[in-house]
Amino acid sequence: MNPLIIPRTEHPISRSMIDEEALKVLYRLHRHGFLSYLVGGSVRDLLLGKVPKDFDIATNAHPHEIYTLFKNSRIIGRRFRLVHVFFKGGKTVEVSTFRSHSEFEETLTDDGQILRTDSFGTPQEDALRRDITINGLFYNISDFTIIDYVGGKADLERKMIRNIGDPDEKFKQDPVRMIRVIRHAARTGFHIEEKTCQAIMRHREEIKKCSPSRVRDEFLRELKEGVAKPSLSLMLQTSLLLSLFPNLDRIFGDRNPFKDRDRQLFLSLFGLVDELIKMNRPIPESILFAVFLTPILQVLTPGHPSLGERERHLYRDQTIRLVTQEILTPFSISKGTKEIAYQALVAQSYLRKAIQRGLIPKRMRMKKYFREAVLLFGLKAKAKGEEVPPLLRNAVPSDLLPWWPKETRRRRRKF
Ligand code: ATP
Ligand code: MG
Repeated sequence: MNPLIIPRTEHPISRSMIDEEALKVLYRLHRHGFLSYLVGGSVRDLLLGKVPKDFDIATNAHPHEIYTLFKNSRIIGRRFRLVHVFFKGGKTVEVSTFRSHSEFEETLTDDGQILRTDSFGTPQEDALRRDITINGLFYNISDFTIIDYVGGKADLERKMIRNIGDPDEKFKQDPVRMIRVIRHAARTGFHIEEKTCQAIMRHREEIKKCSPSRVRDEFLRELKEGVAKPSLSLMLQTSLLLSLFPNLDRIFGDRNPFKDRDRQLFLSLFGLVDELIKMNRPIPESILFAVFLTPILQVLTPGHPSLGERERHLYRDQTIRLVTQEILTPFSISKGTKEIAYQALVAQSYLRKAIQRGLIPKRMRMKKYFREAVLLFGLKAKAKGEEVPPLLRNAVPSDLLPWWPKETRRRRRKF
């Protein structure tokens, strides 16, 4: 198959846009007679006018050949070996040899052994093994052209997220790609091709077969990149969210008569999370999970009206414990993160009480999770259109809740 070759005059990528160290690596490989391409997310981001997070390089040089070319390098990876080239200041450029298949497509023997490990391929195979078309473009340092085997350029122009190859095959081979399709659609604002979207709905249950740590990593990227709201909205539309977290059917399924209201709260909360992240205020993972669990807890924790106050507290705390365990366990999250999420959720009613009393006890303010609990309180209040009283705002650093400026107490001047 002949790729589309886009000459330098017809695309906007210039060398000045490419990281200096990545350029050195590209040139050194090229000078030694190897094919040397910038690949993946960096080419996509440069074409979209964004600053890439990392500049990955692919070549026909084998790992040991790359290693001998760069003194400051190391071969890494157990099954799929690639080379990290290190530079001053801790910068690393990743160089991989063209591959014929993705590392997550496993061919197993009858006794469950992995049959293939490194299997090097041609540039075309390397493009075809990638996930979506806009991630499959190459920038060739030898003549500054873009090489397009997958129709990525056209999809960038028509703003479309589309699988490379047959979406059924792609998702069967590696179901994590469904989350990636959604994340890339959410962050670019592109629409998902109908065939790709239908295939997500057909294969969504297969996400359960994936390694929990890979699912967690891809899912957390959605929540942490400032695109949580559009990502979760798409995960709801395709029902992938319910395949990942079947217990959420309690709130988002038809059994809940208030499902629209709860869905609205869920998405508004994550809209605020996105706002904070875009303001460069990173949110701890524990709070991302606590926010995630908030709507379902609102449905589950009111307790029966016949319960006394003490029993209601007990019932509520136990429900929070159970929900935190049940929903987050298959996700392989550290115990510590889960514990803070739990504590921050439990602390919500204590914060409400403290506000009623007009005093936040010192022992509460000294708690390790106090800031997290107030952040969660603030997010919930903002999502519901309520105010956080100055008493609570003033107990935390002012940038924790940027929606409400801290009230400064006026000092009386002494004469
Ligand atoms: P980001 O900008 O968030 O880093 P990215 O597209 O660069 O996005 P990475 O996870 O860094 O994503 O992956 C680098 C490249 O590797 C992708 O652009 C894609 O071509 C390929 N890739 C990553 N994961 C998969 C996968 N599961 N299946 C096929 N190809 C993949
Ligand atoms: Mg990347």
